[in-house]
Amino acid sequence: MRKLTLLVTAVAMTLAAAACSQPAGTLDAASEALGAAQMKSIEFSGTGRWFQFGQAPSPTLPWPQFDVSAFTTTVNYETPGARVQMTRLQTVEPGRVRPAPVEQKPDQYVSGSTAWNLAGTPPAVQPQPAAVEERVMEIWTTPHGFLRAAAANNASSQPANGGSEVSFTVGGKNRYVGTINAQNQVTRVQSWIDNPVLGDTSVEFTYSDYKAFNGVTFPSHITRIQGGYPVLDITVSSVTANAPAAITAPAEASAAPAPVTVASAELAKGVYYLTGGTHHSVVVDQKDHIVVVESPQNEARSLAVIAKAKELVPNKPIKYLINTHVHFDHSGGLRTYVDEGATIVTHQMNRPYYEKAWTAPHTLNPDRLAQSKKAATFETFGDKHVLTDGSRTIEIHQIAGSGHNDAFAMVYLPKEKILIEGDAYTPAAANAPPPATANPFSVNLHDNIQRLKLDVKQIAALHGPRLTTLADLRAAIGRAGATATD
Ligand SMILES: [Zn+2]
Repeated sequence: MRKLTLLVTAVAMTLAAAACSQPAGTLDAASEALGAAQMKSIEFSGTGRWFQFGQAPSPTLPWPQFDVSAFTTTVNYETPGARVQMTRLQTVEPGRVRPAPVEQKPDQYVSGSTAWNLAGTPPAVQPQPAAVEERVMEIWTTPHGFLRAAAANNASSQPANGGSEVSFTVGGKNRYVGTINAQNQVTRVQSWIDNPVLGDTSVEFTYSDYKAFNGVTFPSHITRIQGGYPVLDITVSSVTANAPAAITAPAEASAAPAPVTVASAELAKGVYYLTGGTHHSVVVDQKDHIVVVESPQNEARSLAVIAKAKELVPNKPIKYLINTHVHFDHSGGLRTYVDEGATIVTHQMNRPYYEKAWTAPHTLNPDRLAQSKKAATFETFGDKHVLTDGSRTIEIHQIAGSGHNDAFAMVYLPKEKILIEGDAYTPAAANAPPPATANPFSVNLHDNIQRLKLDVKQIAALHGPRLTTLADLRAAIGRAGATATD
């Protein structure tokens, strides 16, 4: 029976190819063979791997891997809209210590120019305006989406390897280039999306091992490379043509994005904790210049922090920006400080990464540095670096042996006994019970504080709701009441 089904399928596919009235390997032939014009929506499911873009554990390593036990993409080509659901669990790399992975079940949507997630119990709508460009790209890079968008956007086509290379631009901005082979299959689609660190970031999909799924010809293997490393590798197990795909944005998804706000608190004379969003910075008022610790997220955040720094400390230039690590949520605002004329202080492993990344074009979302084209200046270190104005000393120490990142730094002000760190210890709300198991990144931070004999009073974490103390860190790792020599 199975053999017969395969035979019938093979005959049907051959007939479909033979019935094609266009020269093989052209855009029209592929559109006809895959039935792109009739494909109003599609749903495909599978399993495989997902990788967390921008969160490599070292500037020289790929994005970290998660196992994907369930993956479903639903696309409505007419609205257009899409939903991606996934169940994933981080794969802890051999030899690396991470917190015990927790299963994640993201549920992500785009409809027209509105993007949102559903999260929590009961599910709540989280607007995701920054994700619109990427999620729209995910629609037009699917095999059928690519063919439909090519037809709608006056694609140009040229022969390549017995097939064609087809390219077009959507919305006058986002470019797509795809390859059709001699079997009328879309085998590769490339596009570019904006990223604050990498600029115009290449996203390359490959589609291989085409099979007939329930009457639909579709690749059984999909890979996606973004920023030079894999972000997705899925083996497709089922495909439904014209699946129900009513994806409409709830009213809450269109809520205006929260304005970028910066609050400040003076931790010691001339040392300011700048909060107000998900990521914080610290500003230090030195004799004739300003030092800023951390430039998270993007240029909008950097501009707001810079404005606040200049308000708190008038008439002094920002001479140094200290960067704790390369994760994109912590380095996305760095380029704004290069444009500002600040020297970037970072671990020596990070410098070549930034230097290479910052040569990329920023045509999709030109930032200030793309216009000024200023050359970046760096001060780098291995274990330790010291900045001083002759009166106040700022120590920068590597957080050695952390599973979070191999080129990871914290900042210590010895006179003020203030420690500044991000991602090693993120305090919970003041009334939250201590975690059941200690976060190994926080244990490692504590080990480093002891190894370096730092006399820490306050901890200004670069995430979290509050300023804390060494006692709070100790409580969080189950060492409350322990003595300083523990
Ligand atoms: Zn990080």
